Amino acid sequence: MNLGIQNKVMIVTGGSKGIGEGITRRVAEEGAIPVIASRAKETGESLVEELKEKGKEAYFIEAELSSKEKCRYVVDKTLKKYGRIDALINNAGVNDGVGLESGSPEKFLESLNKNLYHYYYLAHFSLDALKKSRGSIVNISSKTAVTGQGNTSGYAASKGAQLALTREWAVELLPYGIRVNAVIPAEVMTPLYERWINTFKDPEEKLKEITQNIPLGHRMTTKEEIASMVVYLVSEQASHITGQFLFVDGGYVHLDRALAGLK
Ligand code: NAP
Repeated sequence: MNLGIQNKVMIVTGGSKGIGEGITRRVAEEGAIPVIASRAKETGESLVEELKEKGKEAYFIEAELSSKEKCRYVVDKTLKKYGRIDALINNAGVNDGVGLESGSPEKFLESLNKNLYHYYYLAHFSLDALKKSRGSIVNISSKTAVTGQGNTSGYAASKGAQLALTREWAVELLPYGIRVNAVIPAEVMTPLYERWINTFKDPEEKLKEITQNIPLGHRMTTKEEIASMVVYLVSEQASHITGQFLFVDGGYVHLDRALAGLK
């Protein structure tokens, strides 16, 4: 299938590592131009170099996205360099464990700032460019938005709000032909996930317990599988899909729990 996204300019937040890295690579493989907006400079720059050596165009912008001004800067710099934005892929985030008991009102707000506000800021600042390109937005949310996790109010609230905004923006942007969708991962091995699993006493045992409960294949989802959904959604092939929540999780959230024991 030809996705038809050659030379389209796509901002990928947190695009240096983990799921974002997977998305950056798939965007570039399809001949589009990933613009990585991330604070992870070293990995981001070396990823851009690697892609360039393979004949792909890519660009890195260093930005701490919890700053509104940095979000504006990301959009301005992208437009200065390429003159257009065809897709915004909001992906950067951190499961920072700000709970009801363990957290505080201040920490809760900080968590929203790390996880939620930049999704809005970037969409807001990119809007004129997206109107011109009739582009699209993909918000990477998390299963915690619909299942809860415990001890992570800030992250779960942000992830839930990202789903609400996906529907809200899909409606508001209908007149401009801008499609907005969300992708919901559950268990994907990334630097963030590795940090989380290592908080358990026996991380290996915990991982085994989790993967046993993933109905399809009893394995983690790969970042490439998430990325494939994302590039499809931003492509013309998905031209009549908007306001949708796509669970890419091997049936983890929705299938009958009885299936978990099947091998
Ligand atoms: P990751 O491994 O930590 O990679 C995220 C990248 O984004 C990192 O390079 C990180 O920088 C950067 N980043 C995070 N917050 C940033 C900010 N405020 N400003 C600039 N850069 C920032 O995370 P991941 O596991 O790939 O997660 C990506 C997305 O998927 C998140 O939205 C997460 O909620 C979602 N998700 C992941 C899973 C999973 O199983 N992994 C499950 C559900 C949802 P540093 O390297 O400096 O931290």
